[in-house]
Amino acid sequence: MEQNELHIMYGNDIGNMTYELLEKLDIARSLRPDMRIALKPNFVVAKDASSGATTHPEIAEAVLRYLRAHGMEHISIMEGSWVGDQTKRAFQVCGYEKLSEKYHVPLYDLKDDKFVERQVGDLKLRICEKPLLETDYLIDLPVLKAHCQTGMTCAMKNLKGCLPDVEKRRLHELGLSKPIAYLAKVLRPQLILVDAICGDLTFEEGGNPVRMDRIIAGVDPVLVDTYGASLLGFAPEDVAYIKIAETIGVGSTDIASADIHEYNAQARKKIRFVPSDRAQRLAKDVLAENACSACYGSLIHALQRIQESGGHCSNQKIYIGQGFRGKSGDGAGIGSCTCGFRKSLAGCPPTAKAMVEFLRENS
Ligand code: SF4
Repeated sequence: MEQNELHIMYGNDIGNMTYELLEKLDIARSLRPDMRIALKPNFVVAKDASSGATTHPEIAEAVLRYLRAHGMEHISIMEGSWVGDQTKRAFQVCGYEKLSEKYHVPLYDLKDDKFVERQVGDLKLRICEKPLLETDYLIDLPVLKAHCQTGMTCAMKNLKGCLPDVEKRRLHELGLSKPIAYLAKVLRPQLILVDAICGDLTFEEGGNPVRMDRIIAGVDPVLVDTYGASLLGFAPEDVAYIKIAETIGVGSTDIASADIHEYNAQARKKIRFVPSDRAQRLAKDVLAENACSACYGSLIHALQRIQESGGHCSNQKIYIGQGFRGKSGDGAGIGSCTCGFRKSLAGCPPTAKAMVEFLRENS
């Protein structure tokens, strides 16, 4: 597949449409039996793919079937869930333990992996060894969905799961967008298959799936993300890491010049997928500075739960994030980073349940 190509398969027979797409692209042409091939799904949290948060196991299974049918032996599945969740639980809940047994492929929890440092421009990034040094052919299997800090997440942001937890936290200290783009410069998938079946267009961690019924294939992560962003109504400049990645030469945002192939187009739904601004509305009193995704996402869920139960938080400000370390204040602080605040909820990250109780007691 060329850099400027995008291939979109429509439908809802997830396994068969993935397999058909791989055959059309003749992926086997780029493979050798001695290659170490790794699948990198998105298990940000341990939730079934129908929630809109995680990669459908049918997609991974079709890839495994295809690879086995073409004589590939050295295949693994690797992922590291977000800080605060357990990858191993996600492997089980998301149906990948069964795949591992059926196709005899190991599952690697990257939270247990060693890491190496790589200098990318003026940033030094710590990256897990398995995807970076022990993989010849990386297949990125992101979910196209919303993200309450970056707007959307797709091919590039999915690679954040290839960082140790300590580095995931630091990415937020660094402002998230720049390090996501810089990571894509050094950790480059050979194939991207986007699960755009039913991503959550409100939160990264699922619960509000929207049917899109398509799988998108490409090799340029910037082009793939630009196309995904366009489906959600974003221009490339609306998603900071896409523009940064283009600026440092990761790929192109030039959708107009892309060579786009569509298959089974009669199944294409004639609807526009608009990410909801619900997360932004819930966060109107939240002051976030370099908050980790798990912490921030749980807070949004906690606020949603309070709102759904008919409660409300007073208009006091809620502080969250690593930017509040060593600071003090009178508002409600979420997480250990805000331990200097008069009212602060301990935990790194605290659970959404603890946040609900804390905010109810302190508002
Ligand atoms: S308490 Fe601070 S470091 Fe811990 S998860 Fe929350 S924002 Fe990140």
